[in-house]
Amino acid sequence: MQNQMNLLKDLQEIDQEISAIEATRKGYRDELDAFTADATRVQEMLDQLNDEVAVLQQGEAELQQDLLKERDNVVRVEARLPEIQTQKEYVAVLKEIDVAKKANKEIEEQMQAKQQEIKTLEEDRQEKETELAAIQEKAEARGEELKTLLAESEEVLLKRTKTRESVAAELPTGLLRKYHTLFQRRGGLALALAKNGACLGCNMQLPPQQYNKLLKVTEIQSCPHCNRILYVEVDA
Ligand SMILES: [Zn+2]
Repeated sequence: MQNQMNLLKDLQEIDQEISAIEATRKGYRDELDAFTADATRVQEMLDQLNDEVAVLQQGEAELQQDLLKERDNVVRVEARLPEIQTQKEYVAVLKEIDVAKKANKEIEEQMQAKQQEIKTLEEDRQEKETELAAIQEKAEARGEELKTLLAESEEVLLKRTKTRESVAAELPTGLLRKYHTLFQRRGGLALALAKNGACLGCNMQLPPQQYNKLLKVTEIQSCPHCNRILYVEVDA
């Protein structure tokens, strides 16, 4: 009986260690994932900025085409001036030139507005590119560390799991199952020390009869309140 109890204690110790290693490993993986998520988020912003700049540049190119056409127009109309015969026609042509020039000016202003917008977005883009590079640099340095830590902890985990298996193999299946269920349900504490007539797992008083029986260490007993497997400290 005492032997089974000792095995269970060993098992719980190993299982607690395994849980701690797994939690640490999850932390490492979360950290790695966070770098990826960060980089993806900034990359998405960059992609969006690139799209916006492309649309604006397209608009600017179209305005440039319009401007060239309007300038041609002015030249073409101005070329007609020497051939003009009447005052009325002269006034009409001058008006046409004036309209075309105004149109040119308007297009130029639109182009300047677009260029200003592009400039602002390009500054944003520069900022995001710097941010992304910083994330990648950090991810690379820390990523290497994390991968090493993951590899190292995996080795420890494998060793502990092997030890666990050999300890578990020595325990009866029913007891092992009970222990396992309790370990899951009771936050990694399936066993509880019974001391001064109480279960230290839940701090409830145990029936005196049960406690006395426990002290004799003749059979595996559970706390009637929290169901944990009880053990007593035995002088070696
Ligand atoms: Zn209890």
